[in-house]
This record gives sequence, C-alpha cells and structure tokens, in this order.
Amino acid sequence: MHKVTLRFYEELNDLLPKEKRKKRFTHQFIDRTSVKDLIESLGVPHTEADLILVNGKSVNFKYLINDSDDISVYPVFESFDISDVQHLRTKPLRKLKFIADVHLGRLTRYLRMMGFDVCYKNDFDDEEIVQLSVKKRRTILTKDRGILKRNEVTHGYYVRSSKVEEQVKEVIKRFDLQKEIKEFTRCIECNELLKSIKKEKIIHLLPPKVIQSQNEFYFCPSCKKVYWKGTHHQRMSLFIKHITRNQN
Ligand SMILES: [Zn+2]
Repeated sequence: MHKVTLRFYEELNDLLPKEKRKKRFTHQFIDRTSVKDLIESLGVPHTEADLILVNGKSVNFKYLINDSDDISVYPVFESFDISDVQHLRTKPLRKLKFIADVHLGRLTRYLRMMGFDVCYKNDFDDEEIVQLSVKKRRTILTKDRGILKRNEVTHGYYVRSSKVEEQVKEVIKRFDLQKEIKEFTRCIECNELLKSIKKEKIIHLLPPKVIQSQNEFYFCPSCKKVYWKGTHHQRMSLFIKHITRNQN
C-alpha cells in the first residue's frame, strides 16, 4: 500500500467530499497511477486544475505518483503570476467559444445575450459534446463531471450552481470575461451574430409602442428574429452591472 498527502486549493474544494476540503489529507492506493487519475478518483476533473505541484515542483497530468509524494492542486489563477512554473494547459484557446451540455439551456441564453459564442442543442449526447469541443476548440460547460474526466477533453468547466444567475457569475469569473461582454451582438435562439437593420425595413413587424419608442434594431440572419433595446434589455443591463460590480 502506498500513501500520499494531498491538498486542493480554492474552488477545487467544492468538488471534494466535506472531510477532505481545505486541508491536507492522506490518501492510500495500491497500484501506481497518474496524477490525473488520482485527482479524478477524488472527484476533481483534470480540466479544473491548472497547476499541480508534487513535492514543490510542477508536474504534468501524466506524472506517476510515488509513495509519500506531497501533492498540491490549484485551480486556474486569476491574479497570481505563476509564469515561472509549468501550467497544465499550454495556452488558452485563442478566442473563447463554449459548448454547453443539455442541462444548461438557460445559461446558454444568458451567455448569448452577453455576446458569447455558445453551441447548444437540447439533445446533445456526451460523445457529440466531446467531439465538437476537440474539433471546434470549444470549452465545455457542463453539470456532468464525467465528461471532463475524459482524456481528449482539454478545456472545460464544471458549473457548480443550479441557479442560472449564479451560473452566469461563475462563468464570467472563471474565464475572466467581464470586459468581453457585448450585448446585442448574438442571437439568443441560434447563436448567430446579429446584423443591424433599418427601422423602415421591419416596421410592419413591430408593435405600435416599439415603433414610437425605438430606433435601433438588429436581426438574426438565420432565424430572422428582430431585437431592440426594450425593457428586457434594461433588465439585462442591470443584471450585467450587478455581476461586474460584485466581482471587482
Ligand atoms: Zn437566430
């Protein structure tokens, strides 16, 4: 029997059983295993970890655990400078694009409202999500840790909350997106980029109140839905302000 000690930091603790949170604990095992398999056996998908130190040195996921190793696992850092140690992911995906699992339809709509590219279908299976993530370089958003444990998945996030407002906050914080929010750029229904359109071209589609009060319109080239900055937009703007204020 081999024995190692482990400590998980910050939000990685959400993924551990209560008795292992926020402290160093001992773990026993029989066969030597990679550090990836070890942390995943404890409930932490490898996509959640950005830095692993073994006896003070950074290692990659393939590192084979030795008896009495002392292991520290860190999440993605936002404000720390750790450029001198080995990050587990070589570089971030250039332009952040997401793919969301079937449980995250409402989150998808919110993120699209904020202008983020989120691929979503309410009948995606795990295999499709993984393949699209790898081929199209999309970061997986999921409520299913199992998907994130697969070897071929490199970029993903396990969404903790079941409340959509909290989920939006989590994603904005985790991927540091506060400055990337661009309302009225993407269709909520189909993820297409919106185009602006002159009022006279769509005036026959608009309710009288909107004709009176609005002059700026957008439409989706794919589903033809027309958007304007009505009361829904005001609610959304307040929500975004609320999120960004609470994260500074
Ligand atoms: Zn559309």
